[in-house]
Amino acid sequence: MLTYEEALARILAALPPLRSEQVPLAEAAGRFLAEPVVSTLDLPPFDNSAMDGYALRAADVASATAEKSVALRLIGQVGAGQVFKGGVGVQTCVRLFTGTPLPAGADAVVMQEDTHAEGDTVLVLDRARPWENVRLRGEDVKAGAVLVTPGTRLGAGHLGLLAAVGTARVRVARRPRVAIVATGSELRPPGKPLAPGQIYESNRTMLAAMLTACGAEVRPLPLVPDTLTRTRNALQRAFAENDAVVTSGGASVGQLDFVKAAFTELGGSQEFWKVAIKPGKPFVFGTLQGKLLFGLPGNPVSAFVTFLLLVRPALLRWQGATEVALPAHPGTLVESLVNRGDRRHFVRVRVDAEGRVHSAGIQASHRMHSLAAANALVDAPPATTLVAGATVRVLRIDGL
Ligand code: AMP
Ligand code: MG
Repeated sequence: MLTYEEALARILAALPPLRSEQVPLAEAAGRFLAEPVVSTLDLPPFDNSAMDGYALRAADVASATAEKSVALRLIGQVGAGQVFKGGVGVQTCVRLFTGTPLPAGADAVVMQEDTHAEGDTVLVLDRARPWENVRLRGEDVKAGAVLVTPGTRLGAGHLGLLAAVGTARVRVARRPRVAIVATGSELRPPGKPLAPGQIYESNRTMLAAMLTACGAEVRPLPLVPDTLTRTRNALQRAFAENDAVVTSGGASVGQLDFVKAAFTELGGSQEFWKVAIKPGKPFVFGTLQGKLLFGLPGNPVSAFVTFLLLVRPALLRWQGATEVALPAHPGTLVESLVNRGDRRHFVRVRVDAEGRVHSAGIQASHRMHSLAAANALVDAPPATTLVAGATVRVLRIDGL
């Protein structure tokens, strides 16, 4: 059986190329940048004032104090979006506002609070050092600088920066189209009454949320009863219309598990089946004409965990992401976590704001309450007890 690292490496090595596309900046949040963005502009684009106040020559007010103010002649005012026509000469000043261009001749701004204006005269009550309260052209960004590198997932801060240098469109990875095929004759969609022996189908909803968070375009497909023909037909349609297919259920050793057989009949190549992790051992990965099959176990917790450990990194890397691991930080166990098994156990835990780590509840892979309670996983090695008080790495699964 493959280790987790081997399984992930095989998946990442099998990713086919994914095209990029240009999108308006306003639609680029959460997308992965495909080429570097280089600034064509200095930022700020011109020297400007950091304060509401008066532009002046620092030398003129070098000795100003509240007791011994310096009087300057006010020669004009410049507002937002304007440029002062003249220049600031000896013993003169120009009123300006935060962000307005520094008039020629001035080399400092005294803030309004340190002045007293009377008609055309401005009494300056504090000294100014050269370039005080001036934001210099290019001090933030120099023209030609690389602002954001490829593989970055664009967040609000990136978008703000790119807009500030005048970027209207960016090249990003195309969103992979991913179908979700849920198998199981016992499954009914929520909203319909249940007959005896049936359960509500929950994996499509859960997986759709996680796929969307990974940047995929999600196509949930109709439920598939457990027959080889129905499974094959469903997969055929799913592969025809999408870049990847995520299945749930039907990947185990049962007589009613048809995903692998149906995939093989369609000409798919099963790259591996089974990974030495708990939950989620019967995970299957395959390729079919440059498309990917991620066959998840049907147990909701197993589907959830294998998605985060094996599918999420694949989808992120496919879109060029440089960072694909779950965000992690240290935490302190409040209670012991026991792994008696011979596989690594990714234990659902709840970590609080102080980094205290509690078990999220009973860990069986059909227990969904502990799934909802968890905000992190702890990787517990086989046949090991992680004792209360130990420092562990928590892998965050919230806010993804
Ligand atoms: P399977 O992997 O098909 O053997 O399913 C394992 C367990 O997960 C069974 O108890 C199924 O009823 C359950 N299960 C499978 N698929 C789903 C689903 N889409 N939603 C909720 N439970 C499921
Ligand atoms: Mg099943």
